[in-house]
Amino acid sequence: MLTPEQIKSYKQELKTEKEKILKELASFGIPKSSDPNDFDSFMPSSKLSDEDNALEVSEYLNKLSTESLLENRLKEINQALKKTKTFGICEKCNKSIETKKLDVNPASDFCINCGKNIN
Ligand SMILES: [Zn+2]
Repeated sequence: MLTPEQIKSYKQELKTEKEKILKELASFGIPKSSDPNDFDSFMPSSKLSDEDNALEVSEYLNKLSTESLLENRLKEINQALKKTKTFGICEKCNKSIETKKLDVNPASDFCINCGKNIN
């Protein structure tokens, strides 16, 4: 079982990570499709060569996939932060999650064993 101090420090780690993610997400500034003026800034310009176009598109797609990774991680963190009595408890077998797993990812939902079976 985790001590209240351990839970506190894991949650503190998650909060720090959450702040970092929120800042990163804010820096993306993905254009809103509702604003026609933003259109040019993310659609490849027709003046560029095909090669440049491809580069611009792939950069844009990269941004989008990074953004969705960050959003998914943010969801995980928020879920873990909401847990009180179940923090650090495996959702499958109800045993304590190993600290070596929580050290890597304090938002882990499963112990090492159950995590293996799921992935
Ligand atoms: Zn388990």
